Amino acid sequence: MLKIENLHVRVAGREILRGLSLEVNAGEVHAIMGPNGAGKSTLGNVLAGRDGYEVTKGSVTYDGRNLLELDPEQRAGEGVFLAFQYPVEIPGVNNTYFLRTALNAQRKYRGEPELDSMQFLKLVREKLKVMQISDELLHRAVNEGFSGGEKKRNEIFQMALLEPKLAILDETDSGLDIDALKQVAEGVNALRSPERAFIVVTHYQRLLDYIVPDFVHVLADGRIVESGDKTLALKLEEHGYAWVAERSPVAE
Ligand code: ADP
Ligand code: MG
Ligand code: MG
Repeated sequence: MLKIENLHVRVAGREILRGLSLEVNAGEVHAIMGPNGAGKSTLGNVLAGRDGYEVTKGSVTYDGRNLLELDPEQRAGEGVFLAFQYPVEIPGVNNTYFLRTALNAQRKYRGEPELDSMQFLKLVREKLKVMQISDELLHRAVNEGFSGGEKKRNEIFQMALLEPKLAILDETDSGLDIDALKQVAEGVNALRSPERAFIVVTHYQRLLDYIVPDFVHVLADGRIVESGDKTLALKLEEHGYAWVAERSPVAE
């Protein structure tokens, strides 16, 4: 589904990703761990097509196409979804309206008929089974005044509605207490399917007790320096990232 080869990305005049390669197949869950500032969010942003992230070298192929040629709206239409590390508040824009507009933009892109408000409400009720959020949050402005946990849940709810093919979750666990973490993980697990892939960025092994990944990668110094199965996350928890640096020194 996704093949990233030797990706180099500049942000604000600095090279942040420096030769990152990663392959993700349908049905797989890949966890990406790594120290703060390693470039994990940069990877998510560049895959989603955020402005200001300049690819200077390398390639990204998604479903056999050059992903980097597509604008962010096209990428979303093609099923790429990014749950933000820091979800944005959009005062004055009703959350339900926002979600319906996003879904209908995607349906329009795919040549599918738009959903009217009755059809959309039916879908919302169905998706509330995947990720519980209160009615009240649906009626407020997008993320405005939401707690950290409510914002993260709203991201997962949005994901459940949009049914992406490739979902990138950027530290969706940060700021969650253990109950919220479990609920978010259950929401993600409910969406796991042979047609869908996940890239789950996290600092902490804890999330991976609930979202069990097929692969774990360590991103350090702008590239993947180590890959393994879920036991790699446990080793990282025990030994820290310095252990990886010692095992696989990164050439400057
Ligand atoms: P991580 O998510 O692994 O903690 P990031 O990808 O957020 O790391 O950041 C990697 C580096 O790139 C950091 O030094 C950060 O300050 C820098 N960076 C990321 N995005 C921007 C931006 N929009 N403007 C300036 N610097 C940025
Ligand atoms: Mg960070
Ligand atoms: Mg980050």
